[in-house]
Amino acid sequence: MADLPLQPGSMIGILGGGQLGRMLALAAGRLGFDVVVLEREADSPAGRVCAHTIVAAYDDAAALAALAAVADVVTYEFENVPAAAVASLVGMGVDVAPGPLALAVAQDRFEEKTFLNANGAPTVAFAAADSPEAAVDAVARIGAPALMKTRRDGYDGKGQRWVEHAADAARVFAELGSVPVIVEAPADFVRELSVIAARGRDGATAVYPLAENHHEHGILRRSLAPARAAPALTEQAERIAARILAGLDYVGVIGIELFELSDGRLLVNEIAPRVHNTGHWTQDGCEVDQFEQHIRAVAGWPLGPTRAIAQVEMLNLLGDEADTWSKLAAEPETRLHLYGKRAAKPGRKMGHVNKVRPL
Ligand code: AMP
Repeated sequence: MADLPLQPGSMIGILGGGQLGRMLALAAGRLGFDVVVLEREADSPAGRVCAHTIVAAYDDAAALAALAAVADVVTYEFENVPAAAVASLVGMGVDVAPGPLALAVAQDRFEEKTFLNANGAPTVAFAAADSPEAAVDAVARIGAPALMKTRRDGYDGKGQRWVEHAADAARVFAELGSVPVIVEAPADFVRELSVIAARGRDGATAVYPLAENHHEHGILRRSLAPARAAPALTEQAERIAARILAGLDYVGVIGIELFELSDGRLLVNEIAPRVHNTGHWTQDGCEVDQFEQHIRAVAGWPLGPTRAIAQVEMLNLLGDEADTWSKLAAEPETRLHLYGKRAAKPGRKMGHVNKVRPL
C-alpha cells in the first residue's frame, strides 16, 4: 500500500484514457504528480498529456502487473472498467480509489438503486427482470408507462426504452438484447440537477453547489451552475451526498444525478464513481475544481474549498462544433477546453466551454 499522503513526484495510475483521464492528468501534473494511463488506444486524449501509457485491454494481466509495478495509487475515469481488473490490482497490493464497492454499485443499476434506498437516498420505484415473463410482471407491478434499462453498460441514454403498456414489455426486453434489466417508474421531474461531492482518505467531505443539467438525445448538452436553489433544496442534496459517500466508504469525487420533483423532493437517478461531465463547470467556477479535488482525495491530501467564484454555463462541444474553436477563443467570457480527439464523429464529446459571469 502507498505511503499517504502521496509526495509530489509520485506516480498516479488512471484506468481509461478519455477526456476525463486527460483533465485528471492535467490536474495531477499541476500538483507535481506523474501519471500513467492504462488504455486500449495508443493515441488517447489522456495518453498525450501523461508520462506513460500502457496500451492494453483493462483485463490484460501483464498490463495490470506493469501498472501495479509503477503506480503508487490507481484511480479510474470510467465506471465500466472490469471489476476483475480492480480486484486484481487490489490483490497485488495496489491502493485503488474509489474502491471496489463503489465500482460494483455503480456498474449495475439494480444494485445501485438498492444501495441508494438502503442508505436513505430516495429513488423512483424499480424492479429487476431477467426474462420476458419477468419483464411483463415487473412493468405490471411498477405500472405503465415505465422505463426499461439494461442493468449494466448503459450510458448517455443508451440501453433504455419506454414501455407504454405492460404487454409490450417482452418485446422491449428482446429489443434491449434479452439481458438483465431494471424497470423504473417515471420520475415526474421539473428539473434535472446534479451534485458533485468528494470524500478524502480521512473521511472529510466537500460538496459543490448544484448544477442544473439539460440533455439532448440522452447526451448532456448544457449545465448551469450554481443552479438557482432554495437553501432547503441544497441541504437535501448535501444530505443525500453525505449518505452516499459514507455508505460507500468513498475516496474521490463522485457525480450524483438528481431529479427535482414539483413538490421539492429530490430523487437520485444515478451515481458515477468518478469526475463527471456535469462538474466541468467547476474548472472555471469554483475555487478548487473537481479534477484537482479527485487527485487530492486519492493522494490523501486535504480536500480543497468548493465555493463558487463565478456563474457558469457549461456547453459540451459535440462532433464538428469544436471546429468553431477560433470564434470561441475570441470571446472574453468563454473558457475553452478541448480534448485533443483526432476524429469528430457526430455526437462525440470533443470539448466543452465554460461561459463565465460574475456571481
Ligand atoms: P440515465 O442513463 O439513467 O442517466 O438516464 C438518461 C436520461 O433519461 C436522464 O437524464 C433522464 O432525462 C431520463 N430518465 C432516466 N430515468 C428516468 C426515469 N425513471 N423517469 C424519467 N426520466 C428518466
